Parts: sequence; structure tokens; C-alpha cells
Amino acid sequence: MNLTVSGVVLKAKLSGDNDRFCTLLTDTHGVINAYAKGARNMKNKNCTATAQFVYGSYELFFSKDHYVIDESQYEDLNMGLREDLMQLSVAQYLCQLAMELAPEEQPAAEYLQLMRAALWYLSENRRPPMLVKAAAEMRMLSMAGYMPDLVMCRECGVYDHDIMYFLPERGQISCGDCGVRWKENAIQLGRGAMTAMRHSIYAELRKLFAFTLQDEGLKQFYRAAEAFTLSKIEKKLPTLEFLRSMM
Ligand SMILES: [Zn+2]
Repeated sequence: MNLTVSGVVLKAKLSGDNDRFCTLLTDTHGVINAYAKGARNMKNKNCTATAQFVYGSYELFFSKDHYVIDESQYEDLNMGLREDLMQLSVAQYLCQLAMELAPEEQPAAEYLQLMRAALWYLSENRRPPMLVKAAAEMRMLSMAGYMPDLVMCRECGVYDHDIMYFLPERGQISCGDCGVRWKENAIQLGRGAMTAMRHSIYAELRKLFAFTLQDEGLKQFYRAAEAFTLSKIEKKLPTLEFLRSMM
């Protein structure tokens, strides 16, 4: 029986002489692996839509123990990702993060919506890669069950302060008056970074990247999101290590 899904190609590797082995993030079946026979050949009908970072629709059938891509149609090619190393590296990393966090063989429409938007914003250069990475990390970890509590200071309950500290291990914030306990790992956030942190987890998903942040605020947001990710993802992700070496 054939199955039609919307999806994004998180990974595509050569299999045999001419086939592609794709890892897809799909709306109805989460992360799945699927073969596309002959798709490395430029003339093959599935060549374009089975390349990494493409968003499209895929008609699949199940054969023995794996999916096979029968037909495909691309919507976003995200070609811009191949023009800039930073954009490409963030895209690679977010794909790897999605492979870690998104469910397998279960509905994952929100993850797909997030990844589609992240790749598009990166490819079209609509937001700085640092901003896309940080917002996508915060949101994806929240979807995966690690949602931090960023409403108010954990000690005194204040919502608004010039300085807030984000505690990545705890997923909490503490205000500038209450401070942090000795030796506690904390990232200082000004108002801009604090607003971005809250936006990234509480805003409507379709508005996730619809904000701007610059300079020190962006650096704080980036540091906080990365520290949070590192505290929740136990294994080392090579794509993240590579990005860290670039910064
Ligand atoms: Zn406080």
C-alpha cells in the first residue's frame, strides 16, 4: 500500500552505485529511512527531491523491512544553503539534532514545520544563522520534553529585570537581584536575549523566527541555547562540535 507524506530530507547518502538512502523527517511518520532507487542519476525522476535539505512530498511503499520512495515532488530546494559555510553547517547540525529528538514512525508535524522553516530562513538568508540555530534548538528541545520554565525568577518570582541568569541544567531563570548559587553554571541574559529565549519556546510555531536580535543580545541567546542543548543531549554530535570549532 502506498503512503504519501510531506517531509524534509535530513540526510542522503549513496547506496550501491546509484541509489540514495535517505533519512526523512515526515509529518505523519516522524523520522524514517527510505531508499530511492537510481536517484543519484541526474535523469532519475527522484533525483532532485531526494537531495539533503529538500522539502517536498514523497510517495512511499514498504518493502520487506524498509521504505522505498516511488514518486516525489519538491517544494523547497533550499539551494542557498550550499553558498555559505556557516548556513550550511547550521543546517547540517539542525538535521542531526532532529534525527536525535524527533520521534520515529510517529506523527511529527510540528518538528517538520520547525525544520522546514529553519532551513528556509537559513537558505534565504532571512535571519543570522546564529539566531536560527538558537531558536530552533530551544524549540526542538521543548517539543522533545525538555521545556524550560522561563516565566519568572525561580527565587522571587519577578518577571522583568535588566539582568536575568539562565540556568541550563535546571532550565530555570534567576534575576539579577537574587543571583545564582556558588558554582552554579549560569548564562547572563540582558532584556533582548531574555525576550528571545521566551519567544523561542512560547511563541506560535509559525512565528518562531519572526524576530530580530543583534550583537551582545544575540551572543547571549546563542550561548544560552547551546548550553541548554549540551546539558540535554548526552552524546556528542559531530556537526555541533564542528560549529563550535568555527565560533
Ligand atoms: Zn529574583
